[in-house]
Amino acid sequence: MKSYRKELFFEIPTRRAFINITPQVEKCLYESKIKEGLVLINAMHITASVFINDDESGLHHDYDVWLEKIAPHSPVSQYRHNVGEDNADAHMKRQIMGREVVVAITEGKLDLGTWEQIFYGEFDGRRRKRVLVKIIGD
Ligand code: ZN
Repeated sequence: MKSYRKELFFEIPTRRAFINITPQVEKCLYESKIKEGLVLINAMHITASVFINDDESGLHHDYDVWLEKIAPHSPVSQYRHNVGEDNADAHMKRQIMGREVVVAITEGKLDLGTWEQIFYGEFDGRRRKRVLVKIIGD
């Protein structure tokens, strides 16, 4: 069995953003030379997510509005976590949107469903963050 590990780095200039990282994961898969197996992609921060859904800007706007309703950033004083920091909402948004995804690899390609794309979800940006890509298989 072969194994491949890589960290992807993101420094998002805004507090929140959704970034399609499918091309970067495909590049990792190509580098790994693995044809059959699994790829795990996870955020290495507790205020960011990795998830799979549609690459459609209206949907991403809807996610942002929906997440702000569930866990609004302001007023920051509403959260007990926000003593010396202001990112309690980002922890909650990450919890809802998830930490990681696992995708099957078949014949050297990501075996994604129709319209499925892999996203990095940032909820407390403006600093350097990491995503882990781990691929195992043959
Ligand atoms: Zn925090």
